[in-house]
Amino acid sequence: MAIKEMIISAIFPRRCPVCDEIVPGGELIHPKCKKKLKTVSGNTCYKCGKPLSEESREYCSDCASTKHIFDRNFALYKYRSIAGSVYKFKYSGRREYADFYAAEIVKRFGDELKALKPDALIPVPMYGPKKRTRGYNQAEVLAVKIGKNLGIPVDSRIIKRCKKTVPMKLLDEQGRMANLKKAFNIAQNEVKYKCIILIDDIYTTGSTLDAVAAEFRRMGVKNIYCVTLAIGQVV
Ligand SMILES: [Zn+2]
Ligand SMILES: [Zn+2]
Repeated sequence: MAIKEMIISAIFPRRCPVCDEIVPGGELIHPKCKKKLKTVSGNTCYKCGKPLSEESREYCSDCASTKHIFDRNFALYKYRSIAGSVYKFKYSGRREYADFYAAEIVKRFGDELKALKPDALIPVPMYGPKKRTRGYNQAEVLAVKIGKNLGIPVDSRIIKRCKKTVPMKLLDEQGRMANLKKAFNIAQNEVKYKCIILIDDIYTTGSTLDAVAAEFRRMGVKNIYCVTLAIGQVV
């Protein structure tokens, strides 16, 4: 196994998730590049995990006015500091970045996530034809790494995205709702999970996670948490 890995890393040297240059063997990122990534810290929204500008608040303005369907989101990085990296992770085939992302998510939230005793990690699904074109679903790649690290099974089959949706950032709130209507589907009669953790790369408004969570609520899943690699800035 070790020899196989050595051969693979000699043919496909690992690239840094920040500068995309080759990193020395055994490393996941350049230490100086890691410093450029900003983790969410200080007071955060109890619902979505966004950093809050005021110490006294419990919820961001969005979560104070919108009722989310999921229970709580855990977010690691401030979006702007990792946006370039996530772009390459999604569109330039840099699946290997998930090793670093997952390791950092586990370092920060691993104990909390295990304490929730989740039955499964569920990546937010990608529309089938889109996944075939891209070759992979980045949320699934991330979920598999986190699951392996924490010893939690990953279920990427239970829910499907059955509609082509347009990027959420291009839409207003009403447009988002229409875009996500009947976008996800659980094609089985019974879901045995009591507690699940949804996995996605970026949290913007939470409407995608809500749409996925709604399907699982409908099937009687009691506790639905989320983990996202990154989240938008202070609101
Ligand atoms: Zn680097
Ligand atoms: Zn919030």
